[in-house]
Amino acid sequence: MFSNMHTHGVQELHVCQQGPLNAVVALHNLRLGPALGGCRFIEYDCELNAIEDAMRLARGMSYKAALARVPHGGGKAVIMRPKGEFDRHELFKLFGQFIQSLGGRYITAMDSGTTVSDMDILASQTAFVSSSSNIGDPSPTTAHGMFLGIQCAVHFLTGQSLQGLTVAIQGLGHVGWRLAQQLHSQGCHLIVCDIDEAKTQKAQQQFSAKVVSINDIYQQSCDVFSPCGLGGVLNKTSVSQLNCKIIAGCANNQLEHDAVAQEIHEKNILYVPDYVINSGGLVFASSSYRGMNGQQIQHEVNKLKDTLEKIFVLAKQKNIATNAIANQMAEKILYGDPRQPDWILEAV
Ligand code: NAD
Repeated sequence: MFSNMHTHGVQELHVCQQGPLNAVVALHNLRLGPALGGCRFIEYDCELNAIEDAMRLARGMSYKAALARVPHGGGKAVIMRPKGEFDRHELFKLFGQFIQSLGGRYITAMDSGTTVSDMDILASQTAFVSSSSNIGDPSPTTAHGMFLGIQCAVHFLTGQSLQGLTVAIQGLGHVGWRLAQQLHSQGCHLIVCDIDEAKTQKAQQQFSAKVVSINDIYQQSCDVFSPCGLGGVLNKTSVSQLNCKIIAGCANNQLEHDAVAQEIHEKNILYVPDYVINSGGLVFASSSYRGMNGQQIQHEVNKLKDTLEKIFVLAKQKNIATNAIANQMAEKILYGDPRQPDWILEAV
């Protein structure tokens, strides 16, 4: 367990077993502030997988928070969903008490398998929760950040606007659908796929989108390929099929492993690091938690354009994959001196 924590750079692991609740909270790095990260509530085959997931995700949150410049560290909670029947209200009440017992070192939020009503139960037990029906859904903010990030990447590469470009979107969920709406309103041509046919049909009707199968999305000739469904979709096979200039999607952990970023770089495709372009949701959660209003949140989300611009410029100058640059920048913030004003340029 300790060597696994060391591998992931995780500082603390907290576990709780009470009644129907089997929960793990992994805190990766608290240098910038209390950890903020969602609570995943899915079935796991075994508890080691749950712990591994919590640690991997907590690390990702630290990197995301560092580059989003929010005053939070990275943490993640995983609750093992019971296989049989269970009392959901009781389970989340106990989880809220567990979060409270951590004294504010970890602030929780929604993630796969949790709902706004679960968050409301948590909020009845603890103040350390950043999602609730009072705060709302982060997806529109994530989608808007995505839109800004795509604009930024296109401008960096071509100096052009989005008008007339073709974007292939994989997954029309909470974020993908809103992104499609914004891109369509800017005159983009859309190619879409989803396992849910109702969504692709709707996109065909509303945006005149070309619908393709989930297997054919990779080889579509397009300007931007936008993975907005699942993680791990960028691997040797899919990357060899890509026929795009930019990859920019909201899915977390798109790269099957870091070496894939180098293959993308060698193919001359501009990869927009997922945890930077999809950070709007985290900015929303962090800013709402700190009492910011909509306009202030928008201002914070806009900053991701500057971060991306720096990553693109440095990647080009140093001829290094964008993901490697982003990681180095995040590590400089997490492990270097965060007060240094020019840390980004000095980091590489
Ligand atoms: P969602 O569940 O609403 O949407 C996912 C969509 O992908 C669904 O429409 C689903 O049918 C589709 N899909 C699933 N498998 C697919 C496949 N093989 N091919 C094509 N489509 C497929 O999720 P979301 O909230 O839109 O988030 C999408 C991704 O972005 C996730 O990886 C999530 O972790 C990440 N993310 C979301 C937010 C947010 O604010 N919602 C923030 C940051 C990151």
